[in-house]
Amino acid sequence: MTSSFHPPQRILMGPGPSDISPRVLGALARPTIGHLDPQFIHLMDEVKGLLQYAFQTTNELTLPVSAPGSAGMEACFVNLVSPGDTVIVCQNGVFGGRMKENVERCGATAVMVEDDWGQPVSLDKVEAALQAHPEASVLAFVHAETSTGARSDAAALCALAQQYGALSIVDAVTSLGGIEVSVDAWGADAVYSGTQKCLSCVPGISPVTFSPRAVERIQSREHRVQSWFLDMQLVMGYWGGSSKRAYHHTAPVNALYALHESLIMLEEEGLENAWQRHLRNHLGLVAGLEAMGLTMAVAPKYRLPQLNAVNIPAGVDDAAVRAALLNDFSLEIGAGLGALAGKTWRIGLMGHASSERNVITCLTALESVLGQQGADIASGRALAAARAALAG
Ligand code: PLP
Repeated sequence: MTSSFHPPQRILMGPGPSDISPRVLGALARPTIGHLDPQFIHLMDEVKGLLQYAFQTTNELTLPVSAPGSAGMEACFVNLVSPGDTVIVCQNGVFGGRMKENVERCGATAVMVEDDWGQPVSLDKVEAALQAHPEASVLAFVHAETSTGARSDAAALCALAQQYGALSIVDAVTSLGGIEVSVDAWGADAVYSGTQKCLSCVPGISPVTFSPRAVERIQSREHRVQSWFLDMQLVMGYWGGSSKRAYHHTAPVNALYALHESLIMLEEEGLENAWQRHLRNHLGLVAGLEAMGLTMAVAPKYRLPQLNAVNIPAGVDDAAVRAALLNDFSLEIGAGLGALAGKTWRIGLMGHASSERNVITCLTALESVLGQQGADIASGRALAAARAALAG
């Protein structure tokens, strides 16, 4: 007989999923009710309101897509891009490449603006591309590049899009809840996120928000959206503002209880406080890593507090270190992705996992494992440096 699955208790300090609070896991286990039950519809309304708070928007079309961040990405592209369109896509890591895929699968042309991995998107290059392509209808970029740990200037990029008459599509999968995401203040048009990063909820849901301008574009489409499931005109009938909801698909009822709880926790803490907590713990971690003699892969100005890319010291066996952290300390950190595979580790301090305790645990474990590997590090300094930065 196959037996029940009992996962080990890990500390999740990779690129996501992140640790989930027992409060959120508790919500997940509450009794399932029908997805058209009036009580569930009330919960759906509250989730929309809480997401508007998290995104800092009054956009009516703000909802959680019933599928992971990749589906949120796809929802933005398939609804806003039509065959024959030109889209400017910024790529400075893995996820910009996925945006290109989406554009091409919509039958549109992607004009790529490329920057080195670990660098932010260049505003000058984007402006040059917008000038060279006045026909571009959308500018798409990743706010927080999880593959490199670099943050781009979303406010300035959205302003450029507006200046040149394009809509903006913003990937906020790793940013939402960890650093400022101010959809209305930025004038962003379509923003998607994920639940498994700084919201510290279960994976598999993608919050999205569309500005009134984006909704207008969706409503005036000449081509039918190629995806039935992600067609926002249909999804609106299920998640829309009116009290009468039409069945479209069955929402992931219990996962939405969990999202509701995690968003309540964010509201209780306050967005600004959550951003401050992420920053403080990041500074503590970096101080400890640098005191050990390790170096960060991204320049301080562009570092994401929730995703810390660390250069792997020469001669150190990347996979062996990660395996020892997992086996001996039950601690997960991330490997480098794409062009950075084997060159960096990605240490997440996301959502519930962004805690002083995790900073100290990670530094202790890493120092121990690197010591065993015979790596050339300075021992015995990391914790004092981290504690001083955390106190500062
Ligand atoms: N965009 C970014 C920046 C991400 O980090 C991720 C996931 O790590 C995604 C998109 C895709 O999200 P998911 O894995 O939930 O489909």
